[in-house]
Amino acid sequence: MRLDEAYANLHIVQDFIPSKNSNRPGTKFSATSVTIHNTDNTAAGANAAAHAKYQKGADARKRKVSWHFTVDDKGVFQSLPINEVGWHSGTAKGNRTSIGVEICMNADLDAPAAYERAALLTAVLAFQQGFKVPSQIFQHHDWSGKNCPRVLRAQPHGWQEFLDQVARYKKDLTNVPAASIKLSKAADHHLTADSAKGVAPAQQVPVKHLVSGASVPSSLRARVVPALNLVADAFNIDPAAIAGMIHTESVWDSKNVTGKYIGLTQVGPEIPKLLGLSRTGFLALPPDKQIEAYGRWLDYYKFKPQMAKYKIAVGALPLGRQAAVLQAMQFAPNAKAWKAALSKGNFSVRSTPTKQAAFLGDTSIGDMEKYYTGFFKKKPPKYA
Ligand SMILES: [Zn+2]
Repeated sequence: MRLDEAYANLHIVQDFIPSKNSNRPGTKFSATSVTIHNTDNTAAGANAAAHAKYQKGADARKRKVSWHFTVDDKGVFQSLPINEVGWHSGTAKGNRTSIGVEICMNADLDAPAAYERAALLTAVLAFQQGFKVPSQIFQHHDWSGKNCPRVLRAQPHGWQEFLDQVARYKKDLTNVPAASIKLSKAADHHLTADSAKGVAPAQQVPVKHLVSGASVPSSLRARVVPALNLVADAFNIDPAAIAGMIHTESVWDSKNVTGKYIGLTQVGPEIPKLLGLSRTGFLALPPDKQIEAYGRWLDYYKFKPQMAKYKIAVGALPLGRQAAVLQAMQFAPNAKAWKAALSKGNFSVRSTPTKQAAFLGDTSIGDMEKYYTGFFKKKPPKYA
């Protein structure tokens, strides 16, 4: 896995403890190890965002605790820069030499997903900092004797399997220029740990940027790709998913008309009106402007609030499913049933009962994902 892909999978949101807070000592260090913890908090909702918020609060100051990363099944929150000491190991030596990684254990956690992510994060840290696996990966227990990480220690081969996974990931990693790695700052988003109540941190996935592929015609690439990336950034979706939807809707014909639906993305009459354009005027817009108008369309149908309401972190879904979500929005932007089902991991609810889109399957997320997964196999996206 390339390092930038690993970062994209990790979904790291930097939401640092304010530097004036007493549990962020600000002592610079050059860590020589990673220390793994479990949060000891089994309450539902005690996820990574909640622990990032906790570290910024009074109780963490009173208890003199802080650590670098909290990992759950959706993403990672980073509370301290990796060149600053945290207070997590129970010993001065551990704190002065080790990066602290807490793995959540909330009741509503998808545990295998969280441990996969924690292993990948540990592998990335080891890869970048030059730590050996397993000799420079510690349990909290190694420092202070505390029964931590409690969950991994309770399983007969839990710790060994975790280390094996870290080693596998690390062996697989390849470097890329630092510039191609993007992290999300909580402040860059309208969502911080303070307001993250029940919203999955993966909503803040750094979006990939398309270069070519995904069915974008080479003649349109220069105009269209920046517009796709722009809309993708604004809505936290993969630009290739938008490209796939456009191909399916209009085969990149910006003058396409199907009844009242027009243009590249087959928007309805509401969008030309919103832009103060006649139907003919809208159809005369170049492809990139029509894609920007599609952004307006997503906004008009409250795409972000709707997905937040159903806790669907679209950008964290596999590409084929992201395209299926956009396609379902095309069919039924206001419908509740398919979104409620998707949020529960049920992909079988039809977005529309019409038969016109039969080649997409029955228009459920699952069937359309199958279609789009095949589509992207034939037309693979190329990312920056
Ligand atoms: Zn611990």
